[in-house]
Amino acid sequence: CGIVGVTGNDRSVSILIDGLKRLEYRGYDSAGIYVNDEKGHDYLVKRSGRISNLEAALTPEVKGLAGIGHTRWATHGVPSETNAHPHYSNDERFYLVHNGVIENYQQLKEEYLKGVEFKSQTDTEVIVQLVDKFVVDYKMDTKDALLKVLRLISPDSSYAFALMDREQPDTLFVAKNKSPLLVGLCQGYNMVGSDAMSMIDETNEFMEINDHELVIVKPDNVTIEEFDGTEKKRDSFKVDMDP
Ligand code: GLU
Repeated sequence: CGIVGVTGNDRSVSILIDGLKRLEYRGYDSAGIYVNDEKGHDYLVKRSGRISNLEAALTPEVKGLAGIGHTRWATHGVPSETNAHPHYSNDERFYLVHNGVIENYQQLKEEYLKGVEFKSQTDTEVIVQLVDKFVVDYKMDTKDALLKVLRLISPDSSYAFALMDREQPDTLFVAKNKSPLLVGLCQGYNMVGSDAMSMIDETNEFMEINDHELVIVKPDNVTIEEFDGTEKKRDSFKVDMDP
């Protein structure tokens, strides 16, 4: 399973697909991408099976400046197109990819999401619906809603998350706990990925993400916060690797 994200590049679709191919070694049963642009266009494409199935489903109109991609190793819900990521809120505003397991997803669902219709059987969909709930019903901004959700997730859970909000199309909201994820710093755009190799065609400069941080990735800057909102600074590092 794996995650790739990019913001600020009109080659986003091919960057995501190339990154996902480099993550194939981690194993997966389905794959999907979500891309959008500044003008309100967005596309979600998911397929069971190989990344080549996903590629075959990408029509020329599927393009954007930012996006997230995922290969899934099913833990909750059968391998299928519906259970493939990205998952999205019912108002189609928030899109989320996730590697790992949310141990208390049933409890969160019962406590906060009574009456909400679910499209998939995944633990992941609970998280994206919950972010939407806090934004729409509790009028929180996206960052605060995600911070609230991250604090509600039980500490025994594992996750690497990349979240997109249609209303802030150039922003990737990312966080991790016990699952790998790091930032790739590129020239005029930025990326996230499960490992450095998934971004190596685009950059050799990376920034670590620690557990329990919210990282906000835009085309020209990256900010890191702890769950209590404290800002953190971090140096990037370069890696010598042949693509
Ligand atoms: N628990 C999630 C699911 O079953 C994510 C699985 C993964 O790590 O790919 O959809």
